[in-house]
Amino acid sequence: MENISPALLHWFHANHRILPFRSDPTPYHVWLSEIMLQQTRVSAALPYYERFLAALPDIPALAACEEEKLHKLWEGLGYYSRVRNLQKAAKLVCAQYGGELPADYDALRALPGIGDSPAGGPAPTPLCPGARPGIGDDTAGAIASISFGLPVPAVDGNVLRVFSRLYNDDRLITDPKVKRTFTARVMEHQPPAAPGDYNQALMELGALVCVPNGAPLCAQCPLAHLCAAHAAGTA
Ligand code: SF4
Repeated sequence: MENISPALLHWFHANHRILPFRSDPTPYHVWLSEIMLQQTRVSAALPYYERFLAALPDIPALAACEEEKLHKLWEGLGYYSRVRNLQKAAKLVCAQYGGELPADYDALRALPGIGDSPAGGPAPTPLCPGARPGIGDDTAGAIASISFGLPVPAVDGNVLRVFSRLYNDDRLITDPKVKRTFTARVMEHQPPAAPGDYNQALMELGALVCVPNGAPLCAQCPLAHLCAAHAAGTA
């Protein structure tokens, strides 16, 4: 298949949503937003994101936060294991890396709650319909590529869906072998100079155009001319 990145990036730069963690994508900001968005819609997560950062502006503040206050800041988002893991990882980052996330994909993946979530992870909370799927969220890949510019994949449920349609490949994306194949395809198209924008563009395309619920919006898709499912009528 022809490389998708020129058309994808052109679309992304013209159409992406303006979001606070995109305007100021420090590793802490990307980390926090990725964890919040794992089971929560962007619109629902944004007020929590702003409030959380106002109270805990950096990783040392998160590491030192009292449990009750932390619980209050997360109240309403659900899946409290996410915030417990955030703090566990923050404490490790303070102890091992001087309070800054390491610019190293494998070191990031070793932190609690940051590597791949288990395939077929928890279903989105009913309070937040439309949340990102809990399949293979890869926070380490997002931080490494978006904040540090490292050429690594960030493959979440949105990206897997886009690639299953692009290649008209209907194998189960919860199968780890299939996910590895899809991840290799994602990397074949990744431009070395813009891994973060490419990864974000794929996630954004999956969220806005190649949507999970109902028919994808192929008429608005920058990749329609390359998409095998679109050509076959199986999207
Ligand atoms: Fe998804 Fe349609 Fe675009 Fe294919 S053409 S990637 S099915 S939105």
